Amino acid sequence: MSKQNEKSPSEALKKRLFHTPKDAYATLDEAQIQSAFDYCEGYKDFINSAKTEREFVKAAIKTAEEKGFKPLDRDKKLKPGDRIYLNNRNKSLLLAVIGTRPITDGVSIAAAHIDSPRLDLKPNPLYEDNNLAYFDTRYYGGIKKYQWPAVPLALHGVVALKDGSTVEICIGENESDPVFCVTDLLPHLSSEQMKKNASEFIRGEDLNILVGSRPFKDDKGSELVKLNIMKILHERYGILERDFVSAELLAVPAYPARDVGLDCSMIGGYGHDDRVCAYPALTALLETQNPAYTAVTVLADKEEVGSEGNTGMQSAFFENFIADIATSFGNYARHVFQNSVCLSADVNVAFDPIYADVVDIRNCAKLNHGVVLTKYTGSRGKSDTSDASAEFMAIIRRLMDDNGVLWQIGELGKVDAGGGGTVAKYIADLDVDTVDLGVPVLSMHSPFEVVSKLDVYMAHRAFSALLGRE
Ligand SMILES: [Zn+2]
Repeated sequence: MSKQNEKSPSEALKKRLFHTPKDAYATLDEAQIQSAFDYCEGYKDFINSAKTEREFVKAAIKTAEEKGFKPLDRDKKLKPGDRIYLNNRNKSLLLAVIGTRPITDGVSIAAAHIDSPRLDLKPNPLYEDNNLAYFDTRYYGGIKKYQWPAVPLALHGVVALKDGSTVEICIGENESDPVFCVTDLLPHLSSEQMKKNASEFIRGEDLNILVGSRPFKDDKGSELVKLNIMKILHERYGILERDFVSAELLAVPAYPARDVGLDCSMIGGYGHDDRVCAYPALTALLETQNPAYTAVTVLADKEEVGSEGNTGMQSAFFENFIADIATSFGNYARHVFQNSVCLSADVNVAFDPIYADVVDIRNCAKLNHGVVLTKYTGSRGKSDTSDASAEFMAIIRRLMDDNGVLWQIGELGKVDAGGGGTVAKYIADLDVDTVDLGVPVLSMHSPFEVVSKLDVYMAHRAFSALLGRE
C-alpha cells in the first residue's frame, strides 16, 4: 500500500505530460476572485447604460476623454504616449496609445464588436390594426425568433431630421418608463402553432411591437390609436411619421444585467455578445500607459450581420486609421500590418450540460475556465474562417501564461453541427496575425445571455497582456 500523497509512476507521468483543464475557482485565491467580482460591477454598470453600438461609442468616448484621450488630429505629429481616438459615424470607435517602438514593429490590436442581435424598426414602422398600434420590425442578426415575444422591450436610437439635428430616444430603461413587447399566443389556442417547426413558430414578419391602445380623444375617424401615438412622439421628440425614414430605432430587452445564481458567480443580461469582450478590450486600453508597441482597441459595428458597411470591420475605416498613424511617422500602413498582432475579441459557446450533444466536450470552452482561445471558427471543413498559425498560437499562449491569464481552448460546436464567424478574418486579411480570444457564453444570442465573472475578468487580463506586451 502506498503512502498518502505519494503518486504512482503513471500518475506522476500523467501530471507531467497531460493537460488537465482546471476550474478558475481552484486556481485563484480569494483576493483575485474578489478583484474579478469587483471588475464585473463596473462591467454591469457600463452595459446597462450602453445597450446599442451608438450608446457604447458615446460612453466609451466619455470615459476615454476622462483618461486623456483626444480625437485624432491628422495635422499633428504623433509621439509615444499619445492617446487618441477616432469616432466612426458614432457607431464604431478606434482608440490607440502610441508606443515607444518604431511603428513598423507593428501594433497590438484588440478588436471587439459592439452591435448585438435585436429588433430594428422598419422605415415605415407605425401602424394600427383593430385599435392596437404597433411598430413593424425587421430583426437584426441571428436570433431565435420565438425567444422575443413576451419579453419587455425598450426602444433605443436616433431620429435624424432634415435640418441636420438628431433626436436621441431611449424609452423603457427607467422604472417610470413604459416598456413595449411582442405578444405571443395563449397555450389554450396554440395547438396548430405548436406543431410548427421552431423557425416558423414565430414568423419574422410577425415580430411587431405593441405600442398603444388608446385612441386620440373622442374624435371620429380611422387610425386614432396610431394618431395618438404619433401625437405623443411629436410632443415629446418633435418628430413626424416621415422622420422614421431617417431613423435608427432598435428594440432591445428592457431589463438590466443581473447577477445569476445564489453564489452570484455569473451575470445574465442582454448583449454580452460582444460587449463582454468590448468592455474588457476598452478598459485594458484605457489603463495602458507608455506601451512598447502602439496599442489599439477596435470597437466595431455590424459584426452580427456580416461586418458589412462603413462601420463594419470589412470597411476601410480601420485600415485608414492605421495608415494615419503610420503616415505620421513617415511609414506605410502595410509595413505596420505585416508585423502586427491581433486578438479578435469575441465570445464563443460555453459548454451547456443540457445541450451537450452539439459540442465536442474535449474541444469546447467551459464556464469559469478562463478566456477561450479559438484557433478557427467557421463551419464544417473550416470554411469561412481565419485559421491562426501554430506559431502565432504559441506566441499567444506564452503571452497568456507569462501574465497569469487563465485560458482554455474552444471550438464553435461539433464539426457538422453548424458554426459561425467573427471579425478575425477581416483583420487577418490585412496581413495581421490574428486569433480569436473571448468569453464563453451560455444562451448566446438570446435576450438573456449568461457569462461567468471570472471569465470576464480574465478577458480583461488577456487584453491588458496583449496591449502592454514588451
Ligand atoms: Zn454574436
